[in-house]
Amino acid sequence: MAPLTEPVIDLQALNERLETYTLREIIGWAHETFGSHLALLSSMQKTASVLIHTLYAMGLTQVEIIFIDTGYHFPETLELRDRMIEKYGVNIQTYKPGKSPEEQFREYGRELYLRDRDYQLCCQLRKEEPYLKAARRFKAVLSGLLRSEGGARKQIPIVTVDPRIQGYKIHPLANWNREQVDEYIQAHDVLVHPLHAKGYPSIGCATCTTPVRDGEDERAGRWRHIREANPGKEIKLYCGINFSDKRKTGG
Ligand code: SF4
Repeated sequence: MAPLTEPVIDLQALNERLETYTLREIIGWAHETFGSHLALLSSMQKTASVLIHTLYAMGLTQVEIIFIDTGYHFPETLELRDRMIEKYGVNIQTYKPGKSPEEQFREYGRELYLRDRDYQLCCQLRKEEPYLKAARRFKAVLSGLLRSEGGARKQIPIVTVDPRIQGYKIHPLANWNREQVDEYIQAHDVLVHPLHAKGYPSIGCATCTTPVRDGEDERAGRWRHIREANPGKEIKLYCGINFSDKRKTGG
């Protein structure tokens, strides 16, 4: 397949068609279209659990699942990755940043995740760069974004172009809501991150994730230390690993 500079697929017509497809039909279409050039990006949160289980249930366990180990994950996140491999026999490959947390600290002389001026650089070094290195080996990457999450994600199409990887990003759950995700998990007894049941609806690095309080938005626990240290300042709620988030937030 030639490198992408412009969409080679009529995305509007394709997305209109895919909006009527089931989850399995979308993943089946993606696999038929991209074959071994298809991968899945997993953050080990609930929607990734649904997509991983769907690959398993469809017998597509050879599809590479990209997992970025930032070096700052909760131990439960790494344990879930290992349990997924054991239970579903899926092909999860772990990618790491070029530098360990200690090497990064030595280079910058400080913990980047602690300050509003630096935390986006930390996400770039520890999430985005290793993800792009992994994803550029593929032509299409599945991920579990939901429009119902709102914010930068409320208008994501099922298929879009991600120029950073010269390929496509596919969101098979774009038109699902949280209730549908939970119903799928319950119906299929899917492995999920244990911290979801302990007040963490959204889970990233342990250094930058706290539980949410009653009445808070589901992403309120992400980078709370940055927002609370900078009242009134606009602090982004995404790490930039998903191109649609970067586009809406200006990076
Ligand atoms: S979430 Fe925090 S620790 Fe993880 S990469 Fe981003 S800034 Fe760094």
